[in-house]
Amino acid sequence: MVSIEERYRYKFAGSIPWHDEGKAVFAGGVTHQTRFVSPFAIYIDHAAGALKYDVDGNEIIDYVMGSGSLLMGHSPPEITKAVAAQLSRGTHLGGASTHEVMYANAVKDLMPSIEQIRFTCSGTESTYLAIRLARAYTGKSKLLKLKGHFHGWHDHVIADSGQTYGGVNESVLNDVIVAPVDTKVIRKILSDNDDIAAVIVEASGANGGTYPLPNPNFLEDIRDMTLNKSVIFILDEVITGFRYSKGGAQVRWDISPDLTTMAKVMAGGQPGGAIGGKSEIMQLMAPSDDFEWDMNHRVAQAGTYNAQPITAAAGIASLKAVSNGVNHIADENAKRLKDGINEALARNEVVGHAYGVSSIVQLSLGVNCNCDREICTLPYDVIHSSMTEEKTNSLRRSMLVNGVEIAMGRKFYVSSVHGKDITDRTLEAFDQSLKDIRSEGII
Ligand code: PMP
Repeated sequence: MVSIEERYRYKFAGSIPWHDEGKAVFAGGVTHQTRFVSPFAIYIDHAAGALKYDVDGNEIIDYVMGSGSLLMGHSPPEITKAVAAQLSRGTHLGGASTHEVMYANAVKDLMPSIEQIRFTCSGTESTYLAIRLARAYTGKSKLLKLKGHFHGWHDHVIADSGQTYGGVNESVLNDVIVAPVDTKVIRKILSDNDDIAAVIVEASGANGGTYPLPNPNFLEDIRDMTLNKSVIFILDEVITGFRYSKGGAQVRWDISPDLTTMAKVMAGGQPGGAIGGKSEIMQLMAPSDDFEWDMNHRVAQAGTYNAQPITAAAGIASLKAVSNGVNHIADENAKRLKDGINEALARNEVVGHAYGVSSIVQLSLGVNCNCDREICTLPYDVIHSSMTEEKTNSLRRSMLVNGVEIAMGRKFYVSSVHGKDITDRTLEAFDQSLKDIRSEGII
């Protein structure tokens, strides 16, 4: 019996020299910590629709989908056309542009809580700016975040986010309180600490919904508690924005945060992000006639590439497709996949379940749950320990050998082009992978 690893080495042999060169130029050989697959990363040459192709010419069904950015698959024609048209009209116009206003209105039209907006270049920049605005608006310093929630890689949000602490400023860490997903505990923290500027929450629950929040109740409770305490509620919709519904998690569950952070789908596969929310908070960035206020109190934001016209063109095209309902097609595709995975688990008598809201399918092996297959109700620690690194690594490798890449070995970002044929092929690969990892004693 040839092992999964041997088959992986054989199938992806052309990636080995690239990986060796990558290791020489990049620490760890990759440019994003989640791109590494043991024993070596695979090198992708090009992509189209739901598929991507590596340097050996292998065709791979892709569920990484730009870490959740590509709601319409790789290079959808409407976005490619919009970007191509803009390329010859200038990639940076060095001033205010009509594009940025149209782009802002496209976001506002879909998310009613947003009165004003600023563009950034990533989700990380968006959460950084949101926290700075919250501190300036409230005059308070502390941030309350939730266990496991990921908001990018800057110092203010690194605590308990599944990331490492090397080089992180300790005084910044001291200003962050990490709470469990427990409204009683959060209420007590808010009443014991009058120096909390903001509560920041991943709208899906930690890690893009791997650890779901008991929604909509949880977000409603956070909204009420923060209003009562004059604390800014920052809803991080980098993953959920324009995916969980046309207007993101906040429209799906009727929540009105003070500030919303966005990126990914809103930028149509280009680098980009945004923060939006109440005008009275956003106005803290506006220049005034008062020199003293301007110098000492105005909230700074710069960024060479904010709302650059290529991102704006891609973003406007992406949001137009969302307003025409493309997210519903992705939702239907995800439901088909999720049902198929649950059937495959039952057929193979493997304990586990697939769950997930909208077009993200999450997998847990080793524990079952009688949830509605949208919001898994198992506690954080149970979900965490059910998917060991050994399981996610093996499943990721085995799925790749069988022609499919899943995100982090446990998650499927489904797009509008993952139709029935692609789903059937994925389910065949999943069935085979369950057999493969079982034969190696992983499950
Ligand atoms: N917030 C959330 C909820 C995210 O999932 C991510 C990225 N996966 C970020 C913020 C950071 O976004 P970016 O990678 O664009 O900096």
